[in-house]
Amino acid sequence: MTETKTPIMLKGLGVSRGIAIGRAYLVDRSRAEIVSQCFIHLADVDLEIERFHQALEVSMQQLLEIQESVQDKELQSHLHILDTHKMILQDRLLIEETENRIRNEKLNSEWALKQTLDKLKKIFDMIQDEYLRERKSDIEYVGERILRNLIGKKQHSVTEMSEEGIIVAHDLSPADTAQMNKQMVMAFITDIGGKTSHTAIMAKALGIPAVVGLENITRFSATGDTLIVDGTSGLVIVNPTQDSYLHFLERQERYRSTERVVLHHYSRFPGETRDGYRVRIEANVERVDELPTLNHYGAEGIGLYRTEFLYLGRRQLPSEEEQYQTYKNAVEACGDNPVVIRTLDIGGDKFLTHLDLAEEMNPAMGLRAIRFSLKEPEIFRTQLRAILRAGALGTVKILIPMISGVEEVLRIKDIIKKTEDELRREGREFKENMEMGIMIEIPSAMSIADLLAQEVDFFSIGTNDLIQYSLAIDRVNEQVAYLYQPLHPAVLRFINQTVEAAHSKGISVALCGEMAGEPLYIPILLGFQLDELSMNPVSIPRVKKIIRSLSMKECFNMLAQIMKMRHPQEIHQLVLEEMQKTFPEDFLNDYLNDNDKTRGVSDSGSV
Ligand code: PEP
Ligand code: MG
Repeated sequence: MTETKTPIMLKGLGVSRGIAIGRAYLVDRSRAEIVSQCFIHLADVDLEIERFHQALEVSMQQLLEIQESVQDKELQSHLHILDTHKMILQDRLLIEETENRIRNEKLNSEWALKQTLDKLKKIFDMIQDEYLRERKSDIEYVGERILRNLIGKKQHSVTEMSEEGIIVAHDLSPADTAQMNKQMVMAFITDIGGKTSHTAIMAKALGIPAVVGLENITRFSATGDTLIVDGTSGLVIVNPTQDSYLHFLERQERYRSTERVVLHHYSRFPGETRDGYRVRIEANVERVDELPTLNHYGAEGIGLYRTEFLYLGRRQLPSEEEQYQTYKNAVEACGDNPVVIRTLDIGGDKFLTHLDLAEEMNPAMGLRAIRFSLKEPEIFRTQLRAILRAGALGTVKILIPMISGVEEVLRIKDIIKKTEDELRREGREFKENMEMGIMIEIPSAMSIADLLAQEVDFFSIGTNDLIQYSLAIDRVNEQVAYLYQPLHPAVLRFINQTVEAAHSKGISVALCGEMAGEPLYIPILLGFQLDELSMNPVSIPRVKKIIRSLSMKECFNMLAQIMKMRHPQEIHQLVLEEMQKTFPEDFLNDYLNDNDKTRGVSDSGSV
């Protein structure tokens, strides 16, 4: 703890509960692209070239150190990419072209390098060969590293973390979180991001606190600063006073002990209300290392297996065999319980560096999820084969993301049928007529839910995207995060209509967006009579606790009132007050109240 530095308090979006107290570890992921053009004197040319070479050397040294510091065998196998980066650093074209620009055009190194990089990237854009084209992102990465070293900006990578700390970053990409050593990470705090950003989802999966959308945290904290992170209220304190340090230490202890009690007590019971309404509580899974924790938290199967994480942070696409083995592990971890495997949902904030997709103006509405799979039939077919084969081992269901209309569903059914025929011809074991469901997360799918329900076996409502698309709020943009309102009457009506449409056609409905794991929303979701709720495993015991203390009568009453209300804020207040009566410990006054949130800096000595 530092007492000499001025405490700084920032308020962001608390996206994963809990309190962390520890040292900051700054991973600056903002791009070093803002370099400006300067002209140098003839006499300084040699010095400038020397400066460029020094930056190359420092960059090489950093790459060697990263390679040496990684002990973990599994991680090492992903790090051969660093060999490519070392080769790029020695690339003659890169070096000579930059030197020539410095010498002939009298440009500063940063600008000369940037020009060379832009030229190289253009050349790579024109290459037909997919494998070679992949190298473009490596060039960007290496270029950024050299630029940072020229500018003199110290950079850390998540893989370099050697002692426990709190990751402070502008943003964290799925590749960052895939590479980090999770034993070392106490919390995440980032400048940007929203409630359902990848960072938020990953923090919950790891059971660590996270605050996103802090806007300036990378400016206000440095590696080694003492930090307090309250993932419930969204408060972050940099270099706290001794009083606040002690205060939060005590709150942390209290929080941990209640969590332990809740976990121990509720994980083993089903999600059943006092008056006997049973809702299945399942887990959302991203990483294979989450599988052994499912029983511990009391998951009744996997309601959403986000398979895109199998494809991220690596050079090659996963083979059918590798996918089959992964899905097999999931089936084994779930025993008799079902595993809902969602086909690749790439795009939006999850992208594959090695596929080098064209840059899109609006990726969330672009070539994402099923649109991508339909455009890349080989990738889709490989995944379907692995899923269908894993179906022979237990209860596996297939889930298709981002469906917007009936035509897509018919096309997919046709592809699945052809894939089954193929497996049958080959004499492979697989699950015939596997249950197939669709994600309901686009408003068009909600409004034709009755038509879609006739074509599929189940629905799974993805509120993360549903809110984004129905309210036109980018789910990862902190500037509009205050408008990301799960309790918006439009969102609630959409969910209601979907459940009604599904039930009237006799199919079941799950909800697997972040809303499902949020205790405050549970009475509303019960009121809608959802059949399943799927959430990050860590949230399961608390959600079960809430469900088991409520009755459907109470939920229906509350729902009847809120469906007449006009403002999300009003709805929030009503639900909060009701929940505070029953669960005073679980719902404090600032609970999830994003609209009251004040962001910004204070040097208040009272924190
Ligand atoms: C959703 O959109 O609510 C969802 C569960 O899927 P993802 O967050 O992976 O888009
Ligand atoms: Mg989604």
